[in-house]
Amino acid sequence: MSKLTTTNHCSDVVGLKYVYPVISRRMGGLSIGINFNPNNACNWRCIYCQIENLKIGAAPVMDFTLLEDELRFFLDDVLTGDFYERFHVDVDKRVIKDIAIAGNGEPTSLKEFARAVELIGKVATEKGVFPYCHYVLITNGSLVHLPKVQDGLKILSAYGGEVWFKVDSATEEGRSLINNTAQSCKASLKNLMLSVSLCQTKLQSCFLDYDNRGLTDREKDSYLDLLRDIKNAGCKLQQIMLYTIARPSQQPEARLLKPLSVEILNAFANEIKLLGFDVSVNI
Ligand code: SF4
Repeated sequence: MSKLTTTNHCSDVVGLKYVYPVISRRMGGLSIGINFNPNNACNWRCIYCQIENLKIGAAPVMDFTLLEDELRFFLDDVLTGDFYERFHVDVDKRVIKDIAIAGNGEPTSLKEFARAVELIGKVATEKGVFPYCHYVLITNGSLVHLPKVQDGLKILSAYGGEVWFKVDSATEEGRSLINNTAQSCKASLKNLMLSVSLCQTKLQSCFLDYDNRGLTDREKDSYLDLLRDIKNAGCKLQQIMLYTIARPSQQPEARLLKPLSVEILNAFANEIKLLGFDVSVNI
């Protein structure tokens, strides 16, 4: 059996449809991923996206019986089985850090999104995993205006969960270039405020070097302006997480992309801190 390491993010390593393990270097343990998008469909096409055969679309209909069976089976394997031994997981990483709804596409596009959030919360609580580990939704936030997504965020909040909301650019041209979305900054900000009002929310922002342009002053200034707007609106963002690309993009633009240096990210993080936000840099 292959060794599960911090670089091995192979989602089918345990052969399940919805549930996959990731040993997270940053979290220092096991992150249990739940993939609502086994069809590799997203409503965005970020140029740094690592999903092979990414296509535009929504999550397919969920097989709830299978999701429940897989999650119960996998949690039993980790909690009382020999999962860690079989995959030769380092002893200091043998702890569940989170259950993260984070798949091969946009999870909130699932039709019965709230039902799925509830089911995962119920099973993880029954197994004694919640409330001791984090419950995270990783989303581009573009569908938070939909009532079904808001219902899901309320349930996530009831389980002590948090939303990681993606904002990679605060300019229209940046969002079009990096995320290939036509959704405006204004609409994204509105969704972010909604998310914060319903559930603990962190901003996750991927900055990268596209075509040797680096992190431009225009992008930085617009992002800082957005944060000022957030602050002035009294919106309580929990944290801002800055990161850059770490693994190869599977998109046609891949050869034009480079990671930003830790120095550039740290310097930008310091500017953000001056606005009074809690910021982390994850390389
Ligand atoms: S939002 Fe996520 S899944 Fe969708 S294209 Fe961007 S990186 Fe890929």
